Amino acid sequence: MASLADRRFDVLVVGAGPAGSACAYWLADAGVDVAVVDKKQFPREKTCGDGLTPRAVRQLADMGLAEALAGAHRYRGLRSVAFGRSLELDWPEVPGLPTHGYTITRHDLDALVVERAEKAGATVLQGTEALAPLDPVAGGPGDLAGCAGVVAATATGQVELRARYVVVADGANSRFGRALGTSRDRQYPQGMALRGYYRSERSGDDMIEGHLDVTDPAGSVVPGYGWVFPLGDGRVNVGVGVLSTDRRWKGLNTSRLLDAFVARAGPAWGFSPATACGPPTGGRLPMGMAVGPRSGPNTVVVGDAGGLINPFNGEGIAYGYETGRLAATHLQAALAGGGRSALAAYEDQLQGTYGDYYRVGRAFVRLISDPRRMRVCVSTGMRSHAFMHQLLRIMANLLRPGPGPAELSYRAMVRTARLLERVRGG
Ligand SMILES: Cc1cc2nc3c(=O)[nH]c(=O)nc-3n(C[C@H](O)[C@H](O)[C@H](O)COP(=O)(O)OP(=O)(O)OC[C@H]3O[C@@H](n4cnc5c(N)ncnc54)[C@H](O)[C@@H]3O)c2cc1C
Repeated sequence: MASLADRRFDVLVVGAGPAGSACAYWLADAGVDVAVVDKKQFPREKTCGDGLTPRAVRQLADMGLAEALAGAHRYRGLRSVAFGRSLELDWPEVPGLPTHGYTITRHDLDALVVERAEKAGATVLQGTEALAPLDPVAGGPGDLAGCAGVVAATATGQVELRARYVVVADGANSRFGRALGTSRDRQYPQGMALRGYYRSERSGDDMIEGHLDVTDPAGSVVPGYGWVFPLGDGRVNVGVGVLSTDRRWKGLNTSRLLDAFVARAGPAWGFSPATACGPPTGGRLPMGMAVGPRSGPNTVVVGDAGGLINPFNGEGIAYGYETGRLAATHLQAALAGGGRSALAAYEDQLQGTYGDYYRVGRAFVRLISDPRRMRVCVSTGMRSHAFMHQLLRIMANLLRPGPGPAELSYRAMVRTARLLERVRGG
């Protein structure tokens, strides 16, 4: 077999998180000669809430991982808590999706998916960091740059890895994406989140829990939520996430928010600072299609590197799997002769699939960035189980094709969000 430096892969994927591994799996499954590099060795930790919604479970099942998930903790819905009220909201029935989710550490989950990609035929190069694009060439106006592959660092030195197409899947910080010309639109929302593991006697709970009334030290309700996600192994994943885009929330100290949240939610779950399994860690959540461009002459961007997290709830794993899969389809078309225009069609399909939904999400973020509005919305909503259930369906992107109440409300929101964007000139 030729050495790596002598090979030219059809596709090279930078990053083996959910987006990169899914992309590599679908390409390998279709018989494409694909390599995926990751700077870490798997299994590895990744700061996350560890929550999989039905959308993510569906993608994992499609990749043949339904049985592998049997060891994960299965749960049936969200317990929404705020202002002294608590509502249990089961995941809704949506055609083609399961009615359960799982919690599983990213340490275990990401190793499963990258191993699946390797079994399907992908070349997986762990401990291999993409340092820079190889022979970059400028793209057209508004496009990503192209390149001939990557210059990568391995344990034994630097290597040039060549490929016809390159996929950027290096996550929220996306240094490789920036080297090809991506940038984040600062008008778009971004989340900041911090999480830690705690031992808890309720680790087997069959609901994940979200607290919508997290307050800052001045008592203002912050745009975001606190969570307790039971892992079924004696631990719970506890965190706070805040939409920090609005200038009011820029300097917010998430460590203090988490301490206050642990003190508040801990007693009911039996966790406290004394049961912490280690110090908390945090990260950024680029959302709502905040990062672009996402396609170039022979390059595409997937997952967090493209700002593709859902702005309603901070969910990014499902969108990593979905956009990795979508990109794989367009890369196959490009390899079959469609070239650059097949990659431009990837961006078109992203817009068609998520454009309106993320537009509504961005408008929602602006709405709840005002603490008074956030308080009124949450305290009013929490009085009605039916209302919150419809809202959950919108916020978790679990709408049905037909004209139900959630779907009709959502369509009205799309019209309003489009109008608002036109008025703002955005
Ligand atoms: C605190 C927190 C809680 C969250 N909770 C949830 C949740 O409960 N559910 C949910 O759905 N989403 C959650 N998210 C979002 C979710 O973690 C991300 O959306 C998801 O990981 C995106 O997947 P990705 O593949 O795009 O990027 P990543 O998962 O970040 O993967 C990127 C990979 O690229 C590798 N890499 C980076 N640079 C290079 C390089 N130069 N060369 C080679 N490899 C490289 C990294 O090692 C990594 O393995 C949370 C995020 C945070 C910060």
